[in-house]
Amino acid sequence: AAKEGGKDRVELFDTDMHRRVLERLELRGDLQRALDAGEFELHYQPIVDLESRAPVGFEALLRWRHPRRGLVPPLEFVPLAEETGLIIPIGRWVLRKACATVARWREQIPGCDVDISVNVAPRQLRDEHFERDVQEVLRETGIAPSAVVLEITESLLAEDPKVLAARLERLRALGVRIAVDDFGTGYSALSHLRTLPIDVLKVDRTFIDGIDRDREKEALVRGIVSLGSTLRLEVVAEGIEDERQADCLRRMQSQLGQGFYFARPLPEKEAEKLLRASLAARGDESAATDRKL
Ligand code: C2E
Ligand code: MG
Ligand code: MG
Ligand code: MG
Repeated sequence: AAKEGGKDRVELFDTDMHRRVLERLELRGDLQRALDAGEFELHYQPIVDLESRAPVGFEALLRWRHPRRGLVPPLEFVPLAEETGLIIPIGRWVLRKACATVARWREQIPGCDVDISVNVAPRQLRDEHFERDVQEVLRETGIAPSAVVLEITESLLAEDPKVLAARLERLRALGVRIAVDDFGTGYSALSHLRTLPIDVLKVDRTFIDGIDRDREKEALVRGIVSLGSTLRLEVVAEGIEDERQADCLRRMQSQLGQGFYFARPLPEKEAEKLLRASLAARGDESAATDRKL
């Protein structure tokens, strides 16, 4: 009986693996088809000045509008896209679409000078054509290179710092800026931060969650904010969900934030509406100040 049970288990395992392999094959074909069929879309989440709450930029976040499964979040397909290498054409699409959208906003909306942050997967950054792709997108979309922020993950900082630094330097030579995403979760040696060509630190939301109650988290974030100011890096606090977290960050002189408390990632049209409204309100304010003077 024990033997039979063992055999059953093996079969179960095989069936399960088989099913998963099939699912992945299906999803892989799906991803290529999705790209060809235009099923990917970008949502835009504002990055705001914590003092004025005005958006200074947006982060482009990928979504898959699947014909049967509805809107699929990136964590359900980006890892597979990365494994299969499809992240390279998908990532190229993301960069082009995000830059084209924000170039248009900057052109058409009076007073608009927002930045656009785009997530770059490790495999993309390692791709030998990436630099050329970025250059091409900058040229095609006409966006000011300094308005483009490439977000890389902290895990990359564990790689050979010389190779990484050279790669980032070449990108920066195009005029774009580099952000370290999910900062604090990886294993980066702090000493690398000083030598790597980096412009922005994005504090991972696990440190922001509970910042108003947990003194250790508070101390950690305070440390990152102060490190940022010493190294002349911009610091963005990710995942701000309520007023108390926002207050806490403002008190420690953290300048920029992003999170559901300010806005969720929004479809393009809605992000544009929010941006226009915020710029109009700012215009009204300065007009009111002018009248008072
Ligand atoms: P990320 O780059 O750290 O992006 C921030 C994530 O946090 C987004 O999830 C956003 O919706 C979520 N978020 C923002 N504010 C809050 C908040 O207040 N509370 C909570 N709980 N979450 C918040 P999303 O859009 O599901 O993206 C997840 C991850 O997928 C991203 O993390 C990024 O690593 C990856 N990703 C998204 N778009 C792309 C892309 O175009 N290319 C690549 N390679 N990765 C992408
Ligand atoms: Mg990001
Ligand atoms: Mg992030
Ligand atoms: Mg994060």
